[in-house]
Amino acid sequence: MNENYYFRNKYNKEFSNFSKINPCLCGSIRDYQLFKYDRHEHLCPTVLCEKCGLVRSNPRINSDYMIDFYESDNYRNFTTSNKTKVYSNYFRTSKHIYKILSRYIKPKSEILEIGCGGGWNLIPFLRSGHTIYGTEYSKELKKISEYKGIIKYDKNIKSSKKKFDLIIVSHVLEHLYDINNFLNNLKKILKDDGYLYIEVPSIEKKYSLDQIQFFHNYYFTKNTLIKYCLKSRFKVFKWSYVLGIHQFIILKKYVGYGVHYNKINEVTKIKELHRKYFLLFYRRYLFNFYFRSLVKKLFGEFLTTKVKFILKFLRTSFL
Ligand SMILES: [Zn+2]
Repeated sequence: MNENYYFRNKYNKEFSNFSKINPCLCGSIRDYQLFKYDRHEHLCPTVLCEKCGLVRSNPRINSDYMIDFYESDNYRNFTTSNKTKVYSNYFRTSKHIYKILSRYIKPKSEILEIGCGGGWNLIPFLRSGHTIYGTEYSKELKKISEYKGIIKYDKNIKSSKKKFDLIIVSHVLEHLYDINNFLNNLKKILKDDGYLYIEVPSIEKKYSLDQIQFFHNYYFTKNTLIKYCLKSRFKVFKWSYVLGIHQFIILKKYVGYGVHYNKINEVTKIKELHRKYFLLFYRRYLFNFYFRSLVKKLFGEFLTTKVKFILKFLRTSFL
């Protein structure tokens, strides 16, 4: 896509001016380099913290740059190819959050979603008689969600007096800078018996370059997600994989201490995933490269395209 091409060139040129060192949430900057570019070839150095096992972008493009990006249509150019079709798909299929949470929440609950998009996750809650609030950066999506009946909520939740029975944070946490500050603020607007639902991609379920994108700051395993949520004094009510490659966690308020896990094992685990991913990547690459050029040499261009499906079959079957 042309717009993406121009954006990428501009972004890569501006990266050094608009990026800064991003220490790990544990405070360490002892990093192990995993990737240099993201899936769309933007500069996006991605590292593993050797101290706590959290994967993150470092250095990282600054938040002002990213807010402009989220408010613009550029973000949607990367995440959707046909906006109208994708949005109507979301409205048709985004029911899993409701299915997970409907058994726990009381009738006529007050619900807030941070980064609600067009409101697709919230419509089933609205139809069940709950009062729904949402925050959203994109002007276009804000209009759609208001039209659907979502009450616009001030992004500055720190100054909020209202308290909610349920707060939904779906595919937002990985975009943030200061996760614990964010969670601490949410805690202030969550009722004492309220639920906080967080959904993020899982790098354990799918470890590949596809996960890496410059608008993500953090990449979670089950352990690192739980660790950094519990740092803000929550307790885990439920955790599970969802929709194949994602994971969710439902948190409740708690005054106890956080979770302990073996940090050295966590670091080793990611390095092992990384090593396996690269072995697979290079085997596929070499197979494609040598086999295709051999076929081309032997049978010419016409047959090369003819045997593409055989190649695809072999590759997916044996590699
Ligand atoms: Zn760390």
